[in-house]
Amino acid sequence: LRSKVMKAEKMEVVSHLASSISHEVRNPLTVVRGFLQMMMQGDLSKEKRDEFLTISISEIDRANLIIRDYLTFAKPKPENLEKFDVSEELSHLKDLISPLANMNSITIETKLESFIIEGERQLFQQCLLNIVKNCIEAMPDSGVLSIEVRNMESKVSIKISDTGIGMSEEQIARIGEPYFTTKGRNGTGLGMLSAIRIIEMMKGTMRISSELHKGTTFIISFPNTA
Ligand code: ADP
Ligand code: MG
Repeated sequence: LRSKVMKAEKMEVVSHLASSISHEVRNPLTVVRGFLQMMMQGDLSKEKRDEFLTISISEIDRANLIIRDYLTFAKPKPENLEKFDVSEELSHLKDLISPLANMNSITIETKLESFIIEGERQLFQQCLLNIVKNCIEAMPDSGVLSIEVRNMESKVSIKISDTGIGMSEEQIARIGEPYFTTKGRNGTGLGMLSAIRIIEMMKGTMRISSELHKGTTFIISFPNTA
């Protein structure tokens, strides 16, 4: 019975995210199609043409941003449980984001203890990637990203913190709300929503503390399932 319940929840998570993503991608495609159609009708000044082309390119970039960040969810796969070491995954994640961190002159500090959990490795990676990417984006000109994994026997505690712009009380309260973003056209407001859904699905918890202009800390825990 228990596994049945978990599966139902999971399908709901996946289908919800997939529909958010297809909606988000369809909008820019519709805009581009409209512009192409207008251009086909001819009789446009060079300025108008250039304007339409510029908007089209930026809309395609936007669709690409959404697909790149959230594609994982658009392809629901059969159940794929694996045993993996949380610290090994975070070490991979560190390598993956190093170039991005370098561009913002961010130092990454890690303290990793081994802890094995059972879950979907790909979703786990996506979850942590979404959180860490936000931390990097919160430090546009230098800072420290700290990643700590503590083995607490009955659970694992993952602490991710940045020395970035921080969040107001109001912003913290809105974290995980679909499409909540402070990044305008560069944001989707889907990253934290996805992360929170994955954490819930894996029976984990997340606490956020943040101070404006000081930084933000995420503490994510998962029970010992291995
Ligand atoms: P996006 O990154 O596309 O804006 P997310 O769902 O990933 O969407 O994040 C939503 C919002 O939460 C961000 O726009 C930002 O305002 C806030 N946020 C998330 N993580 C951090 C962080 N580490 N520091 C400051 N703000 C953050
Ligand atoms: Mg994000």
